[in-house]
Parts: sequence; structure tokens; C-alpha cells
Amino acid sequence: MAAALREATAALAATTDTPRLDAELLMAHALGASRSDLLLRHMAGPVPEAFAVLLARRLAAEPVAYILGEQEFFGLTFRVTPDVLIPRGDSEVLVAAALADGPAATGLAKVLDCGTGSGCLLLAVLHGLPGAVGVGIDRSAAALAIAAENARSLGLAPRARMVLADWSQQGWHKALGGPFDLILANPPYVESDAALAPDVRDHEPAGALFAGPEGLDDYLCLIPQLPALLAAGGRALVEIGATQAEAVAAIAADAGLAGDLLRDLAGRPRALALRHAAGR
Ligand code: GLN
Repeated sequence: MAAALREATAALAATTDTPRLDAELLMAHALGASRSDLLLRHMAGPVPEAFAVLLARRLAAEPVAYILGEQEFFGLTFRVTPDVLIPRGDSEVLVAAALADGPAATGLAKVLDCGTGSGCLLLAVLHGLPGAVGVGIDRSAAALAIAAENARSLGLAPRARMVLADWSQQGWHKALGGPFDLILANPPYVESDAALAPDVRDHEPAGALFAGPEGLDDYLCLIPQLPALLAAGGRALVEIGATQAEAVAAIAADAGLAGDLLRDLAGRPRALALRHAAGR
């Protein structure tokens, strides 16, 4: 076992920044054990047959989360498939901001998540705000099925409705039951010719990533529609690419929304917290 993990780590060094961790996660998955169980109990045992196939998949740049079928986000476990973007730690800043106001301010909130994917933003917020209810929308029926499954497995299905809707289509929000106290959005925002790691480019859903030559197409479509959906005193938390803060803030200002920049743990611009601009 120890030798197999060493060899796999060496082989994975060219594919990932975290070769040892990836090797351990794949080995644990092949064993049907947790990573700590692997390290505490199985290090002297035989290598399970399934490991070689999992390793080959990772060597072909398939993300660990798709191989395992799950990803942790904000302390919760989400099922993921190639139909949904893998939840990123960077996006946790939106959840933290949503919860920072505290249940006193937002505990009974109505929440909308635009482009919910796995449901990670909406469900993490609903988990943290026991009185809140929410709607997750996505234009991908396959993604919505995953979001609904995650809502059920997290015990949040009674408070989370998943609706097929596309903000580029007329009337998409008619049946959603707004206005909303909190709107979350992690729309596609990658430039169409961006150089992405093969893990992302070849495996994650292009429809969740790319948004035109500057990555702004979805902001240009969605943000002008937010004021009509946002309750007075409500907030919209919109994820952005690290270089997009100015451009997206300008789109928001044109729409009558003003806001603050939120940074991720690495200190990069990661989201805008928007509200109705004073006097509008
Ligand atoms: N953060 C993702 C990435 O860098 C992009 C997510 C998105 O487009 N919404 O790959």
C-alpha cells in the first residue's frame, strides 16, 4: 500500500498540484473507506483492484470530485457529476457573506440562486439560515436533478425548490415567486478563449464556465434584471472573476445597483454584494 501510494504520487505530479492528497483520496475511494481510515487502518493491507482504474482516470486529468462523485463545500457534502460545476472553496465567500448578517436579519429570507448547478450556494445558505426558503434555477435539467438530489440528502428539500429557467429567455422569472431578500449567482464568467487547466476545460460543463469574449455576457443579461427581483433592502451576491470587479460594478451601477467588493481567502476579488442604489 505505501509503495503504491508513493508510485501514484510520483505519477500524478505532472497532473495535479496535490498528487499525494489525490492518490490518498482515490485509494480510500477504491477501499470504500474514508481517507483517515486509509491512513490509520489500511496502510499495511493490499491495494484494491479498483485503484488502477481510478488512478488512470485522474492521470487523464479527470477531476477528483467527479471520480469520487462528491465534493465538500462549506462543511457539507455535495454530490457532483460532469453535469455540474465542481463547488470551489473560493465561492464560500458568498455563503459567509450571506450568513454574516445573521438570522436576525435574514433568518426568514426568501432566497434565489441563479445558475444553481449542484445547488451548493443555495443549500449552504439555507443550511445556515433555518428559517429561510429558496429557489434554485438552472437552464440545465441535468444539473437541476443533481441540485434536487443534494437538497434531499441534506434534508433541505422542504425549503428548496429547483426550477428549470434561463435568464436569457423572456419571462423566465414569472413563476419564481419573487421578490427575494437575497439573490445568489455564480454565473458563467470565463472568457471564451481563456487558457484553463485540462481538469476544467476538458471535464467541467462549458455552459457553466464560458460567457463570451470577455466573460461578461451573462452579467450583461442577468444583472439588469436583478432590481425587479430584489426586495427593498435585499442583497444580491454575485461571484466575479478576479479581474472583472470594475466591469461588473459598472454593469450593476447602470442597472441601479450599488455594492461592495468581497475578496476570497487568497485576497482576490471574488464577489460583489449589491443592493438597490440610494434614491432609485
Ligand atoms: N471559478 C471558476 C473557474 O475559475 C469559474 C466559475 C464560473 O465561470 N462561474 O474555473
